[in-house]
Amino acid sequence: MTPARRCARACRIMAAGLSLSAAYGVTHYWLYGLPGVVSASVLLAVAQSYSDEDRRIRARHEQLRRAALSDEQLLPPPVPCCSFWRTSGGEVHGPDCTRPPNACTSLTADHDHGTAA
Ligand SMILES: [Zn+2]
Repeated sequence: MTPARRCARACRIMAAGLSLSAAYGVTHYWLYGLPGVVSASVLLAVAQSYSDEDRRIRARHEQLRRAALSDEQLLPPPVPCCSFWRTSGGEVHGPDCTRPPNACTSLTADHDHGTAA
């Protein structure tokens, strides 16, 4: 439950209570029900705006969930290139690595910048 839905529900409950008190006030004098009716209608308008916000939040979350799901389906899992890659989680590559030499990280500055010329 989103906070917007919780606020909308609270506003509707308060509006119902105010409507009941307005109905009780009308039994004594018709103007006693007016403040309750006005307050309940304002609370219902506020509840409707919170409901709209809740709908937008849930639609956005659904879009993000579907986008993440499609990324998982479209992107293939990485293929292990060497035994070190498997054990280090992809951070370290071993001497039996099948990646091209430029893709591997080296410890020397000359190799990193490719400034052999
Ligand atoms: Zn590797």
